[in-house]
Amino acid sequence: MSSKISRRKFLKLVAGSGAVGFGVMAAGCKGKPSGAEGWIPDQYQGKGDFPVNLKGRVAISDANPSIERDDEKCILCGQCVEACKNVMGVYGNYPLPLKSEIACVNCGQCVMWCPSGAITEKRNIKEVLAAIDDDTKHVVVQTAPATKVSLGEEFGMPPGTSVGNKMAGALKEAGFDAVFDTCFSADLTIMEEASEFVHRLTAAKDEIPHLTSCCPGWVKYCEYFYPELMHNLSTCKSPQNMMGATIKSFYADKMGIKPENIVNVSIMPCTAKKFEVAREELEVDGNRDMDYVLTTRELAVLLKSKGIDLNTVPEREYDSVLGESTGAGKIFGATGGVTEAAVRSAYFFATGSNPPADLLSWQPVRGMTAVKEATASIPGVGTVNIAVCHGLENARQLLDGIKASGSSKWQFIEFMACPGGCIGGGGQPKSTVAAQNSAKLKRIEAIYKEDTGSAKRCSHDNTEIQSVYKEFFGKPLSEKAEKYLHTTFVNRHDRLFS
Ligand code: SF4
Ligand code: SF4
Repeated sequence: MSSKISRRKFLKLVAGSGAVGFGVMAAGCKGKPSGAEGWIPDQYQGKGDFPVNLKGRVAISDANPSIERDDEKCILCGQCVEACKNVMGVYGNYPLPLKSEIACVNCGQCVMWCPSGAITEKRNIKEVLAAIDDDTKHVVVQTAPATKVSLGEEFGMPPGTSVGNKMAGALKEAGFDAVFDTCFSADLTIMEEASEFVHRLTAAKDEIPHLTSCCPGWVKYCEYFYPELMHNLSTCKSPQNMMGATIKSFYADKMGIKPENIVNVSIMPCTAKKFEVAREELEVDGNRDMDYVLTTRELAVLLKSKGIDLNTVPEREYDSVLGESTGAGKIFGATGGVTEAAVRSAYFFATGSNPPADLLSWQPVRGMTAVKEATASIPGVGTVNIAVCHGLENARQLLDGIKASGSSKWQFIEFMACPGGCIGGGGQPKSTVAAQNSAKLKRIEAIYKEDTGSAKRCSHDNTEIQSVYKEFFGKPLSEKAEKYLHTTFVNRHDRLFS
């Protein structure tokens, strides 16, 4: 059978396909409105043949802050649709024609699945380099836990190589003024979120089940498709933004630098973080928490452009004040990690004692099973039923089950948009096939190894965290903590549904 079809036949095929899919795909073509004539990519506008197996593609708005597509590279293979629909539960999960917004949770899984490299993250490398070169700016960078076990892959190292201190050295060499660790603010998130969870369990039961909120892809998914559950979301900002707000308040005060002269950059495994930093809710007193996000892949490009090789760069410690982290902060990068870290500190807040050994190596919440269930017994609180879910199509099925039954058997549910959690994020190295778990498992193994190798395993034992509370925030859930470390959400349902 011929592997090509004529342009005429192709257009006929498309015309007969109805609005579903193609109307949406139309919006992905720059400058061509949805459904308009000539919606197919420019390279297919002239005479010639088309691949017979073309299947369409996801729509990408020009205004999307996270991803973009080079039409010249697109082969209409449909892999992005597969990822968006079957892994993330977004594509097709809304009625057509489109209302006021192209549905996208900015996860970047389509980037990982796109075989031709047509879809990429929207890059911010130039802006970051310009900030570094601007002598009037104090440029601070933070690195997420999942990037420390994956950046090495961009420099030829095997998946699961821990390169945190090499990355800190490389970032210093690249010219950043301070290098902080997002694992620190993961510990800060746990201080707030575990306190919030204990409060909800004992005094605000209408906010149970408690839904985690550190994943911006999941948060946007909830805002689009399950707005009735928004009051169950933890109000905690993500570790990235807790760090950003702390840098432009506590750190700025300590260093005598005006917040407006600080440029906050983060190295993230995630493209949705680029959407998150643009959220209007995430600023305090007119200062944006964060300014720029670079994915793990972008950082590799930046370092290589400066001739910095991770294999040879000297290791450095993270800068202090906001650089110490515990094992609990480190495991945020893997599915189940947020839950395990939160339970460790919730146990301490409820009992005054650190958790027993089994909760420090809590196997039921670990691994790649789509939905994991666990039960924790916390003296004074009782038995807590927990679910851990990764991949938003899995989230959709779990939440629809809760809606159908009218109640949740779980009091705490962790959601991560990407398969495997942050270690499988849309900004991670593409050196391995996205659908394969082997690289993700190696990255997860490295993260738990860092946890067991840490002198401190619980967020509340972090001495720099204790200092920040003593000197600035007071205590978890204080008025000041609420101002800087908590946020609100936006109902986006009506942008997709009538
Ligand atoms: S996966 Fe990439 S090449 Fe395939 S249709 Fe989507 S954008 Fe085009
Ligand atoms: S970023 Fe995620 S939600 Fe957006 S089009 Fe790609 S796969 Fe779909």
